[in-house]
Amino acid sequence: MARRSSQPDVALLAIGWGMLWGVALGFWLLAPEIVDAHRIQIETLGQRVVLTLALTFIFAALGGFLTLIAGLALAGIEAAIAGPFRDRTWAYGLFGGVLLVVAYTLDSILIHWTNFHSLDDLRRVQSSLAAFIASCVVASVVLGIVYRKVTTRFRSLRPRALAWTLAGLAVTGAVALALRSAALLPAPDIGALRARQPQRDDVPLLFVGIDGATWRLLQPAIEGGTAPTLRALADRGTTGTVEALWPPYWSGAAWAAILTGLPREVTGVYEDLAGIAPGLPPFQLPLAVSLRLNPIYSVRSLLAASGVIEPALPPRSLLRGKPVWELLHDAGVDTAVVRFRFTHPPAAQMGVTISDRVGNDGWTLLGVRRDPVPEAVTPASRADELLAPFKPQARDADLFQRLLPTADLHQPADALLDPFEQLRISSDIDTRTFEVSERIVRTSPAQPFLAVYFAGLDSVEHAFWQYRFPGDYPQNPPAPADVERLGAVLDRYVRYIDDRLGQLLALYSQPPNVLIISDHGHGPTTLSTAWRGWHERDGIFLASGPSIPHDVGPRTVSYYDIVPTIAALKGFAAPEQLTGRAVVTAPVQATPPR
Ligand SMILES: [Zn+2]
Repeated sequence: MARRSSQPDVALLAIGWGMLWGVALGFWLLAPEIVDAHRIQIETLGQRVVLTLALTFIFAALGGFLTLIAGLALAGIEAAIAGPFRDRTWAYGLFGGVLLVVAYTLDSILIHWTNFHSLDDLRRVQSSLAAFIASCVVASVVLGIVYRKVTTRFRSLRPRALAWTLAGLAVTGAVALALRSAALLPAPDIGALRARQPQRDDVPLLFVGIDGATWRLLQPAIEGGTAPTLRALADRGTTGTVEALWPPYWSGAAWAAILTGLPREVTGVYEDLAGIAPGLPPFQLPLAVSLRLNPIYSVRSLLAASGVIEPALPPRSLLRGKPVWELLHDAGVDTAVVRFRFTHPPAAQMGVTISDRVGNDGWTLLGVRRDPVPEAVTPASRADELLAPFKPQARDADLFQRLLPTADLHQPADALLDPFEQLRISSDIDTRTFEVSERIVRTSPAQPFLAVYFAGLDSVEHAFWQYRFPGDYPQNPPAPADVERLGAVLDRYVRYIDDRLGQLLALYSQPPNVLIISDHGHGPTTLSTAWRGWHERDGIFLASGPSIPHDVGPRTVSYYDIVPTIAALKGFAAPEQLTGRAVVTAPVQATPPR
């Protein structure tokens, strides 16, 4: 081991080789998964170039950074154990790849720990971690042999050859990525609503989506007398559960299926949020953690924090298929829609639309920014009036106090995030949503179709579930003092929603048909999630009104039944291509099925 004079700088070697390895390995090992997870659908050559450059930049930055950190270990070995390397450039060139892969994995585990303060989830991937460590050891041994050869017998081989090989790997990886991209799904043509009767049912229909609503909360309130509106509706109408699909039940995929009657393979919507970035088509932002992609997700968060990627609710263009209000509008029904997904940008010729780009809800905490701008609502002539409830000042100063009548707002020990902020935002957005809905019904007291989406309950359930249902956590119950202090918040929230729903219904000039559903239920989770309350399968179904007979016994409803049910309540048959069925009898004056 002859000491060589003027060996190159360790930091430069680590960064340079790390960038090369990062791009070469990134395109082959990570890029396909990144594209799939974000559902990036490249349509033009320009977008392909932007995607390739963006991935190259991300892989190079991550590779250089992580290998620099890991290279310190190699420098330590050089200084303390092995003595000066025979050829430092070859040493960092060859071992840079292994160092990078190990550093990437450790970074991913560290990110998981930082988010959840627990590594319990990793037990599920124990065997793959063991295989990973074994392959790193084998790779190191092989590289050691190669290193010995290139620094002794094959001295004529220069490190430049390795650099070119890595560059070639990167280029072929990028080409392979371009070739494997799936062809774009054509937008489905599902046809239109079919008139079932010459004279359409003119009973107004109020369609309410309460994200995450569950009978576990609503039933005790109905029975205990604190939810008289829901009780009256349930007593006269029909109830059931909506069986959610696709654990862990992301709301975006659920509402896409509910509102179109189509599976997610057709709607193309799998996630809650979309990402908007210059030069790329809108893509989706997976929010789950993934040991394989955590470091990539953290770069993505940096890009979002610096404004390169804008997190947003999925625009209408990401949804393949027509939401039910478009089907109704096309069939001549006067529709109004409030804050449901896939309403942005609102189509100018549609009825009243308050798109989901209006009002700050729980997504604000994840960087979704929204201003009450006139383009986010239709018709333009009513923009001032419709946006008034979303002006920045607080809508109901006393509400938070009523929901949580305690001065003790220190964060509970078992909460990773601030539950009080969640409650404040949720009650605020739901109040504004009720207010704008009331404005719509005041102006049009027999509004033929009004769809209103409430985001708040889901967020409050996420944050307060364990205090309301401490028995759900036998292994790890919340502190009794927190149960005492916070246990009633969810019930008060249900009471609040029930109260405001009653006020909204009272504004109608004639009793409307009411359809209330949720996209999934709620329950405890032991998985690594930001909250201890999480989505569960059984959502709620409640239909009640003049056209809906009382029906004893709960029924099970699928996502795909909602569009046909809404269509039937407005006197239409759903397009034949939809697989769901109407779950409440069609309007009283309907002619018998053909
Ligand atoms: Zn949801």
